[in-house]
Amino acid sequence: VPVSRIRNFSIIAHIDHGKSTLADRLLQTTGTVSAREMKEQFLDNMDLERERGITIKLQAARMNYTARDGQEYVLNLIDTPGHVDFSYEVSRSLVACEGALLVVDASQGVEAQTLANVYLALEHNLEIIPVLNKIDLPGAEPERVKGEIEEIIGLDCSGAIKASAKEGIGIEEILESIVHLVPPPQDTVNKPLRALIFDSYYDLYRGVIVYFRVVDGAVKKGDKVQFMASGKGCEIDELGILSPTQIQVQELHAGEVGYLAAAIKAVEDARVGDTITLAAKPAETPLPGYAEAKPMVFCGLFPIDADQYGDLREALDKLKLNDAALHYEPETSSAMGFGFRCGFLGLLHMEIVQERLEREYNLDLITTAPSVVYQVTTIAGESYEIDNPSHLPPANERESIAEPYVKLEMITPESYVGTLMELCQNRRGIFKDMKYLTQGRTTLVYELPLAEVVTDFFDQLKSRSRGYASMEYHVIGYRENALVKLDILINADMVDSLAMIVHRDKAYNVGRALVEKLKELIPRHQFKIPIQASIGSRVIASEHIPALRKDVLAKCYGGDISRKKKLLQKQAKGKKRMKSVGTVDVPQEAFMAVLKLD
Ligand code: GDP
Ligand code: MG
Repeated sequence: VPVSRIRNFSIIAHIDHGKSTLADRLLQTTGTVSAREMKEQFLDNMDLERERGITIKLQAARMNYTARDGQEYVLNLIDTPGHVDFSYEVSRSLVACEGALLVVDASQGVEAQTLANVYLALEHNLEIIPVLNKIDLPGAEPERVKGEIEEIIGLDCSGAIKASAKEGIGIEEILESIVHLVPPPQDTVNKPLRALIFDSYYDLYRGVIVYFRVVDGAVKKGDKVQFMASGKGCEIDELGILSPTQIQVQELHAGEVGYLAAAIKAVEDARVGDTITLAAKPAETPLPGYAEAKPMVFCGLFPIDADQYGDLREALDKLKLNDAALHYEPETSSAMGFGFRCGFLGLLHMEIVQERLEREYNLDLITTAPSVVYQVTTIAGESYEIDNPSHLPPANERESIAEPYVKLEMITPESYVGTLMELCQNRRGIFKDMKYLTQGRTTLVYELPLAEVVTDFFDQLKSRSRGYASMEYHVIGYRENALVKLDILINADMVDSLAMIVHRDKAYNVGRALVEKLKELIPRHQFKIPIQASIGSRVIASEHIPALRKDVLAKCYGGDISRKKKLLQKQAKGKKRMKSVGTVDVPQEAFMAVLKLD
């Protein structure tokens, strides 16, 4: 097909507003996937995504559509991940498009994640087509939601399409709008090859599979190509389109979307955002906007059973093949032994990796509480970053500490504004803006330390608003603050993996709450266990866990052997998620206690 009949678009939607259902419906209506092949939600193919009902990984689909004008068009849908942790990937996949469908649930309205992604799309000059989904629902209020989109985003909604992805209403209208409103790609086939990578994954048999949009020039099977940011080169073993299953082709041109397979060992060498060019006739400059995804949240991962250390390393090596954003390096903790310090894009990314390690690799892990990256300047004039609170130099050697701040936008029904403002205030938030929207909905904007968000902020927001508020944040820079290191001692041993960095004004309360929580979480032992919180050498809070009086085995002393065995087994099971710190068994929850203080 000529470039004039190609349309590249993505779908922007808040979680649950119907992106996957609509994508399925488009595939079905265009006959790309037959009803027989159609698994529900074709585009979400990772188990985890499905269970959590979120879209993490980008996928693409090429559809052929014969429009009412009688012409056949190629429509490439490039799916975007729906979560803030992956906003860099969202921005790259949007850059690969000329238009976007903005899907808003007509029974709900605009949510924070919709907003963030629409702003990204507007920044890149995409044509945005508003779609009011779920109009089959009795509670749907398309007119109200139209007003909301116009008011918040400033987008003309006179042509908004009323649709039901579920019932198949408005689907043809959506396809026609894509054809008529989304501009075709520019025809730059005569320029040197530049293709934008918007996704890549590692395949055990074929090496790295790269998804890309050809921006300029053309690419053929067998071509030797070069990745401009990583500097790696390779020969294309396989070239194809996504329909949405991979179908091989010989050649792809400017404006087209496809995949390539090559003998590359890790996705790190062909990262999202990198530019592909021809080794023999390279482009002068790469496509703009490449950035390395920088981990923002760190935690320690330790095997419960020290024998699993090697397995943990292997599992991380394997995950890394597929996840360029995952960072890890060996960490030795006096309390936890050998493990890894791991860096993630955000909390969801962290949870996903932890869950995969446990599920797919059968590892039993202890996870320490998440930390952000601090910038430390010493009196000696040195500056460096630390991602582990226990590495903070002592107070008398520090000149300053700076921590990352985020701009946080929330959208909430008016009645929860008070409680959410209180939450932000408790989290050292700085109020920036508040706007009343339609029908009692409000946007709230704060700046606050990322450290206060990576603890349980999202859970708090959801529970305080009964699930009605949504949020979105992005890092805006570093700020100096009066921060101190809070140490925890269990049975007089300092537990490095429980150390945390807190604001001086909150240190006393956090220390107090933490020792009380630990007292609750750590089981009784045969001996009395003191628990203390300290700043430097000054103890600011202390508690103790009284000794256990009865020996579990005492009652079957001299008695029945099998019963004794059962009891021991039961004890062993209870210990499964325990880590020995000195002579004290500390359960997993204790290492996360700081997340449960409110
Ligand atoms: P996503 O998170 O944006 O991908 O949303 P999904 O496509 O997974 O849809 C979320 C839920 O809304 C699912 O239970 C869908 O069946 C339902 N849903 C999607 N579109 C419609 C619609 O047009 N009408 C109704 N009633 N339900 C819908
Ligand atoms: Mg989905």
